[in-house]
Amino acid sequence: MEQERRFDEERILNMKTNQYSGFHKLTMEQRAAEVAEFSGLTEEEIGRLTNPGALTNEVADHVIENVIGTYQLPVGVAMNFLINGKEYVIPMVLEEASVVAAASNAAKMARAAGGFTTSYTGNIMIAQVQCIGVANPYFARQNILHHKEEILAIANEKDPVLVKLTGGAKDLEVRIVDSQIGPMVVTHLLVDTGDAMGANAVNTMAEAVAPTIEKLTGGTVKLRILSNLADHRLARATATFTKEAIGGEDVVDGVVAAYAFAAADPYRAATSNKGIMNGIDPVVVATGNDWRGMEAGVHSYCSRGDHYTSLTRWEKDADGNLTGSIELPTPVGLVGGATKIHPAAQACVKILGVKTAAELAQVIAAVGLAQNFAAMRALATDGIQKGHMKLHARNLATVAGATPEQLDAVVAKMVADKKVSVDYAKEILAGMQ
Ligand code: NAD
Repeated sequence: MEQERRFDEERILNMKTNQYSGFHKLTMEQRAAEVAEFSGLTEEEIGRLTNPGALTNEVADHVIENVIGTYQLPVGVAMNFLINGKEYVIPMVLEEASVVAAASNAAKMARAAGGFTTSYTGNIMIAQVQCIGVANPYFARQNILHHKEEILAIANEKDPVLVKLTGGAKDLEVRIVDSQIGPMVVTHLLVDTGDAMGANAVNTMAEAVAPTIEKLTGGTVKLRILSNLADHRLARATATFTKEAIGGEDVVDGVVAAYAFAAADPYRAATSNKGIMNGIDPVVVATGNDWRGMEAGVHSYCSRGDHYTSLTRWEKDADGNLTGSIELPTPVGLVGGATKIHPAAQACVKILGVKTAAELAQVIAAVGLAQNFAAMRALATDGIQKGHMKLHARNLATVAGATPEQLDAVVAKMVADKKVSVDYAKEILAGMQ
């Protein structure tokens, strides 16, 4: 017992200071215990993840409409993330095998050159006010801008809490958008939503300023709603993957070539970006955020040029190492929405150890970059199926009834024979009796 305890302490030390190896070999209970220790979760808090039913029917009934129950997904943790010199354990909620392992592996390789470096443009969300039927849209545009302070004051009356925290609505942009029903005068309210994602906050402000916009333009206001293309709320991450850490200069060239394909071809970019969202969405879901908003933001950001393209960029540096960068809108928060309602989301936020929406956004950017690297490296070397099938085989072997002692042997045989199915796992198990 004493020896076991020492073993755990050593591992915890590793989690806090350096990369962690062998985490996946622990039992689920051991993993949860170590994560709880690392993040300072109480027994009750870690229990929200380890025990089913953290989101009670009573609470769920108030989250959406026509509730009939709740739905569970696995929570895994990605290890080895070093971001701006800080160690992170990243909770990920999803149903797809190999994503968490790939993120952890990529993060480990990034450590050779210091992990991830990130920055953030600020918590600025955009609310759009669409005004149609304006006879002189360019004159109207200027008239709105002349009255900027008055409009911002009207918006800010709606959210004294936010104003106190962040200053609230800070600026205006006015665009003329040509459309099939004629030019529209579209006002953007730029609001610092602080640690909130801010959809409700900015929608309320957009509705409040509508009558003033109508008065100033002589037109009719129609839509008043946030834009998920949150390009004033960008998170950025970079990482260098040394050629030694990732398997040599051929791998560097392979990833750069794979990236060139995604950058040039929307068909490839769609799947490359899906791979990025494999990392991002699970963190967005784990923290109770709106993954549809995140998805909308990312894909619209990739479509700003003349064609849909890759969210990341991969280049070879002067020393022959691989450098990756990502920049993306991050409409996420830590107050409001489900983040504060869902007990499991609160526990995940505590595991992540983020204190602000800004920090969460930057972690998300780093995870997206890591996930993209993992997929690109696999595609440029062994192909994606090798790692994927191994993890898939583990799932199927478990379904077939393999005990933890039998698992590795069953998986190895399925992969070696290239026959990954529940039936074949059962056949192997029968042969082991
Ligand atoms: P919210 O309205 O619940 O919380 C935000 C409010 O909390 C702020 O307006 C402020 O008054 C207050 N607040 C307290 N402490 C704060 C702090 N530290 N920083 C900032 N504000 C603080 O939530 P929200 O973030 O405005 O809206 C998020 C919800 O809106 C999500 O559930 C999302 O699904 C939903 N939504 C999304 C869209 C979309 O297009 N993405 C559209 C509509 C609604």
